[in-house]
Amino acid sequence: MQAKIIDGKAIARDIKEELRVEVERLKANGTVPTLAVVLVGGDPASAVYVKNKKAACAHVGIRSLSYELPADTTEASLLELVEELNSRQDVHGILVQLPLPVQIDEDKVLMAIRPEKDVDGFHPMNVGNLSIGRPGFVSCTPAGILELLKRTGIQLKGKKCVIVGRSNIVGKPVAMLLLREHATVTICHSRTEDLPGECRQADVLVAAVGIPNFIKGSHVKPGAVVIDVGINRLADGKLCGDVDYVECLEVAGHITPVPGGVGPMTIAMLMKNCVEAASK
Ligand code: NDP
Repeated sequence: MQAKIIDGKAIARDIKEELRVEVERLKANGTVPTLAVVLVGGDPASAVYVKNKKAACAHVGIRSLSYELPADTTEASLLELVEELNSRQDVHGILVQLPLPVQIDEDKVLMAIRPEKDVDGFHPMNVGNLSIGRPGFVSCTPAGILELLKRTGIQLKGKKCVIVGRSNIVGKPVAMLLLREHATVTICHSRTEDLPGECRQADVLVAAVGIPNFIKGSHVKPGAVVIDVGINRLADGKLCGDVDYVECLEVAGHITPVPGGVGPMTIAMLMKNCVEAASK
């Protein structure tokens, strides 16, 4: 039997509809949720991401302020802008689109954003809060993965979850979130011995590797939930995940497609974080 396809697009749409109602309520109480979006330089992929984020803001009713700075912007002037946005009462969230040009230390900029306005969840304070189980902003892709699982009704308590990839922005925070849900969590990476064997143990398998079609049907336990975080652009321009979708569809119980799985959830969770920042 073929796996059930988890429709990330539809789930993201539901979340955005719920947020619209919440934004209306906030506005009626005198708060206009506001996200400052900072883009430095003209990287075309970054420009597309920023455009999509601003469009999502408009859809949900969040006000977005746009700061488009030239590629030769100095670190000092970017930090000055972040400081200004930190101190503005009417700005609830600050998003600095990555990557930044080489002359700017990304860590320094991310650390300068006040944790209460860090809607991307990249500030070490928010990362640390997640690790020790305190409230804080969770980065958007991992939060989106958890929301997909929850809204699909997947039970996580006591289940074996295997994550392939240990990056700071996906693998590690996903592991922390699943642990918080009482799953038994294994993180695999490029030095893991017997990766297929580890994967075959998983009730929930999360692939965040960055290699097209890396997870094969033979990595998947029959009936497992397969979450594909990968976004890889092939030579023909098509998008492809880290999971061999055709093979895994035949083995898994649930699977996310690419595109239309985890991707749309990332922006929905960014909107959710903005609304939360404005509610505080
Ligand atoms: P990184 O490149 O930062 O991390 C990749 C991870 O995969 C590393 O931990 C690496 O291990 C591991 N890895 C690489 N090769 C192998 C291998 N042969 N066997 C086992 N593990 C391996 O990637 P990201 O976490 O940033 O992104 C992962 C994917 O998710 C990418 O396709 C990216 O485009 C996508 N992505 C999608 C998002 C969305 O919104 N849907 C958001 C963010 C990312 P090691 O640490 O040992 O090197």
